[in-house]
Amino acid sequence: MKKKISYLISIPLTKLLVQLITLSGSGAGTNFPGKVARKISPDILSYLVKQTKKEILVVTGTNGKTTTAGFIAGILKADGRKVVHNRRGANMLTGITTAVVNESSVLAELNPDNCLFEVDEAYLPKAVDEFIPDVILVTNLFRDQLDRYGELNTTAKKIDQAIEKTAKIKIPKILLNADDPIVSSLGENYSENQVVYGFQDIKFVNQDENITSPQEITNCKCGARYNYEKVFYGHLGHFYCSCGHKRPTPQISANAVIDVNSSKLIINSDYHEEFTVTIKMPGLYNAYNALAAISMALNIGINIENIKKGLENYFTVFGRAETLYMKGKMVLTQLIKNPIGATEVLRTVKDDINGRLLIIINDNYADGRDVSWLWDANFELLSGYNKTVVVSGTRASDMATRLKYAGIQSENIIIIEDIKKALEKSLSAVKEEEKLYILPTYTALLDLQKIQKNFL
Ligand SMILES: [Zn+2]
Repeated sequence: MKKKISYLISIPLTKLLVQLITLSGSGAGTNFPGKVARKISPDILSYLVKQTKKEILVVTGTNGKTTTAGFIAGILKADGRKVVHNRRGANMLTGITTAVVNESSVLAELNPDNCLFEVDEAYLPKAVDEFIPDVILVTNLFRDQLDRYGELNTTAKKIDQAIEKTAKIKIPKILLNADDPIVSSLGENYSENQVVYGFQDIKFVNQDENITSPQEITNCKCGARYNYEKVFYGHLGHFYCSCGHKRPTPQISANAVIDVNSSKLIINSDYHEEFTVTIKMPGLYNAYNALAAISMALNIGINIENIKKGLENYFTVFGRAETLYMKGKMVLTQLIKNPIGATEVLRTVKDDINGRLLIIINDNYADGRDVSWLWDANFELLSGYNKTVVVSGTRASDMATRLKYAGIQSENIIIIEDIKKALEKSLSAVKEEEKLYILPTYTALLDLQKIQKNFL
């Protein structure tokens, strides 16, 4: 009973804080209210999530968590379900708590059909102490913010640890990207609960795609380097090792046709007849996110019609959230935070002849202090780029140096550290038929969100 009383304080207070922070326009107030809630009622997250009527779903991995979870949320809603989801991408326990408490009634009633959480890889073992997932989906594991997380194997171990912890109470379904050598070998002790998904083949149209070797090298457990029959991106592809270990055969597989602004996926699995979906977002990375979401949906028994409808819903939301008009100019913002993710975004930008570019690099804690990853991202893709590029943020000059080495003429690189001024300058250069691509790191994106209302 005593606990209940604490909820009556923590829930209204959290909701109030969320409102105040939203009103003040300081944007990123997604962690603080949850922190306060957990101080007053340490078990609040666990108490509310326990009310879930159907499945508790977790999405983790280096890249694509937010988009994948967004796709899944769209599908669950199309299926008529009540979903609680940390959709703003705050994926540590405090952010998840904010999202959950904010959806609860003041009497601590939540009762969702599904809880859907994107969870930071490193925080997963802690998260499963507070709620027991029914499904854990892992998108991919790439090198990311090395100074914070250490090597990839450490991250893989954390996910395995979370699976072990969960399995003591209930063994979760484990949904894994078959094309990722590290991801596809997770949860090996529970192989009967593993479901893998992956691409059979990928065709690129209207763009020169010529990947023959992996951009990132991974070693097999035996120590030897993986070989590839097909490389898709990063270390994703059809890998095999001389010791006999190889990419598992996916239960859910797809063929993809990737165009400049959209992708077509032809999906095959044992659960249903072949079907086709069109993803109205650029990039192979988004095709992977969609395939992950479809795999999740098929696993919890959602029909194909609602899967398609749900993805459609998401594109509408995506269109509003990510494509903005500032001063009448079309602006597309795409977060960059590691070499592989950034390279995929650059591929999209390079293929758009009407694109202009603003790159904002910060090196705050949440970005990772070390910006040496800029040297591993393939900025050489822009070597033929003959328009001006504006670089901004606390590490603008490092970015400028990187672009020079990538073959961009010095006179085409404009350094403006102040983000607001950089945005003004970039927008003024965008012609009517053109659009502006903004590639910010995480805290640069938060800065951008604070100032962009002045430009809408
Ligand atoms: Zn091997």
